[in-house]
Amino acid sequence: MKILVAVKRVVDYNVKVRVKSDGSGVDISDVKMSMNPFDEIAVEEAVRLREAGIATEVLVVSCGVAQCQETLRTAMAIGADRAILIESADELQPLAVAKILKALVDREQPSLVILGKQAIDDDSNQTGQMLAALAGLPQATFASKVVVADGKATVSREVDGGAETLSLKLPAVVTTDLRLNEPRYVTLPNIMKAKKKPLGRLKPADLGVDVTPRLKTLKVVEPRNRSAGVIVPDVKALIEKLKNEAKVL
Ligand code: AMP
Repeated sequence: MKILVAVKRVVDYNVKVRVKSDGSGVDISDVKMSMNPFDEIAVEEAVRLREAGIATEVLVVSCGVAQCQETLRTAMAIGADRAILIESADELQPLAVAKILKALVDREQPSLVILGKQAIDDDSNQTGQMLAALAGLPQATFASKVVVADGKATVSREVDGGAETLSLKLPAVVTTDLRLNEPRYVTLPNIMKAKKKPLGRLKPADLGVDVTPRLKTLKVVEPRNRSAGVIVPDVKALIEKLKNEAKVL
């Protein structure tokens, strides 16, 4: 059983992003880039399934600029077997990525596709759902537990008011939530080993995918600065303030 995992290169979660002065987007020049944290969890889950003898191959794919190769090498250092970079200097919106992944699903025929529930740069939370729709596959989003057996994936997911368990017939698409697992630390020997693992390169056009953006960003602004808090002397004063001064913004 083959597992395909999508990994995105994003601004590291520790970086405080700055908006470009012309409001056209976020400045990513000279900032640390890393693998999207939800995608690290996706790779870890796939590698655990291979280590448990349930999967036989973990293939990772990243769509974007040439530097995404670093993200793919990190995924292979976690334990993925093979990588494909879909190289494009254009802005790749979730629909374009979903179309690329659909073409790869057709080509590679994985039994399971694992993505992060969302990329921390665009916070779109769309790609997995769009891929499942385009490929006509069942989907379970925000997985907190995945069990694969007998051609099925049993996925637990947290929903409003409790936990839901879904049974999906494979092939299927799963997106990861934070609670699914804790990714392992990447060790130096595994980083060295990852350098020798196969990494293929394709362009969206090789897969017949048109990545022209469908959405236009009109403006990006910094969030408003929070005003300073006040210390109230007692509960009575707090209640008074909540009653008369607190407002929903
Ligand atoms: P999003 O819909 O943009 O929030 O992204 C959800 C998930 O789709 C991410 O966690 C990744 O697993 C996958 N994904 C999105 N963009 C890319 C990309 N450029 N390359 C590879 N995977 C991606």
